[in-house]
Amino acid sequence: MSQQTAPASTSAGPELRALARREGYRLTLQRRLVLDALGEMSGHSTPDRIFERVQVKSPGISRATVYRTLTFLLKLGLVTVAQIKDNATVYELASDPPHHHLVCQGCDEVIEVRHEVVQPLFSRLEREFGFRVRTDHLMLFGLCERCRRTRRSGS
Ligand SMILES: [Zn+2]
Ligand SMILES: [Zn+2]
Repeated sequence: MSQQTAPASTSAGPELRALARREGYRLTLQRRLVLDALGEMSGHSTPDRIFERVQVKSPGISRATVYRTLTFLLKLGLVTVAQIKDNATVYELASDPPHHHLVCQGCDEVIEVRHEVVQPLFSRLEREFGFRVRTDHLMLFGLCERCRRTRRSGS
């Protein structure tokens, strides 16, 4: 473990700070650290990995604090959460527009899907059921093309 002070990355900083301000929240140091960690890791990260990452920059921070902060950021809509496999919970910076995933249960590949692919379904649900979907990070489980092909030839 290095004690070097890595240059404080604020890659994910300015817009998120503006967003938080707009929502009436202050981004405390803890929240910023967690957001920065998520920004640096890009993609899905487990709370444990986020905690380790944050700890490098701020060794004093506790696991509970990081977990609590994640829950808070989730409520703010700054991060999204998903269950990928074996009920592992993963977090990710919220994207605008939102994105979704196809998760292959054969090889664990995770394919990203743009929101516009899913949007027609959401619109239809609203038209037919008067229901407005707020899920912004869908996980659809199944088999990818490659796995389907190997299964077919294998049996
Ligand atoms: Zn995602
Ligand atoms: Zn697969």
